[in-house]
Amino acid sequence: MNRRMMIESGRGDLAIEDLPSPNMIVTIDGPAGSGKTTVAHSLARHLGLDSLDTGAMYRSIALLAIEAGVPPDNHEAVVALASEHRIDFDWTCVPPRILLDGRDVDDRLRHSDVSEIVSRIAGIPALRTVMVRAQREIASRHPRLVTEGRDQGSVVFPDAEVRFYLDADAGVRATRRALEMQRRGEACDVNEIRHAIEARDESDRGRKDAPLTVPAGAIRIDTGDLTVEQVVSVLVDHVRASFDSEKDDGS
Ligand code: C5P
Repeated sequence: MNRRMMIESGRGDLAIEDLPSPNMIVTIDGPAGSGKTTVAHSLARHLGLDSLDTGAMYRSIALLAIEAGVPPDNHEAVVALASEHRIDFDWTCVPPRILLDGRDVDDRLRHSDVSEIVSRIAGIPALRTVMVRAQREIASRHPRLVTEGRDQGSVVFPDAEVRFYLDADAGVRATRRALEMQRRGEACDVNEIRHAIEARDESDRGRKDAPLTVPAGAIRIDTGDLTVEQVVSVLVDHVRASFDSEKDDGS
């Protein structure tokens, strides 16, 4: 097996040789608006890995519930939707686009009706069991993966090679979301977004099953004062340092 891997960083090619394993999982967890999705996709591109947006998987189930008229508190019916429908990713796209029964719903998942109920949907323990299984199954097919969400380093991949936790002040996160929406031409109110983000944080942190938490051994980064490029550069440096130390341990 060829263990040599080239990592193309923002600052030039970075050769990483003698990886202890051809598999590599990097997890990124953090609250809404901390920049995880953009950073995960960019980091994956820099490292030559696949990327997985697990929030999109929960959002897909929320969309199914909306379309079927199933309220989020009908746990049994929500879990049934997850087994009746098929969530896939189109891995030929960079970043991969999510498909619901073959339908590209990627853009639809960011609408506010989905955002409003997704945390309640994600709080259903039996649904999380299904999603965790699906995420591990994806990782078995894509073993070189940057995966982001709320529980990736704490529950789904606690043995991941590198675990990150991104955070930022709620006001900063709300402003970022507002800018994203304005860029898409959507009307928005920063205060409303901030309240919605804080409500989602509370729900994600307060749930019994797999609450949002800093995974053991995770590298914490406050993204508040950093651009996406700066965050990615910091993450690339950490991944490189972690490989260097593994190489030293193995030699
Ligand atoms: O990351 P994103 O904002 O798209 O996630 C939407 C919601 O999905 C989160 O607020 C959270 O409730 C849920 N989620 C989760 N576990 C994950 C990913 C997302 O509970 N791994």
